[in-house]
Amino acid sequence: MARNKTLTKTQLASLRQELLDERATLLSQVEDLDAEADVNNWREGGFDDDPADAGSASFERETAQSLSNHARRLLAQIDEALRRMDAGNYGTCERCGNPIEQARLEALPYATLCMDCKRRDETGR
Ligand SMILES: [Zn+2]
Repeated sequence: MARNKTLTKTQLASLRQELLDERATLLSQVEDLDAEADVNNWREGGFDDDPADAGSASFERETAQSLSNHARRLLAQIDEALRRMDAGNYGTCERCGNPIEQARLEALPYATLCMDCKRRDETGR
């Protein structure tokens, strides 16, 4: 198999579509989660005399908030990937500058590190 230094236009287009789809999904998730966090916030005030309910409402709110934060971080990564696509340096490892494995991009279109650097990131230090 060829070394595949650059992705073809077709591959890029399909990765971009994937990013845009994922982005739309995440945006609506963030909206839902933020609404949930707000609703629970509001509801919590009504459960002053029932600590158990208040506790679970606040737990739900925290869960919604942390899921929302997670989705926002992914959104930022997706936006960054789309920017890199526009700039023409998409698919290049941020750390070592080598091309990111194509299979990795297909699994994770917003990956910014190649497999080696990612592994080093997770195990290293
Ligand atoms: Zn790398």
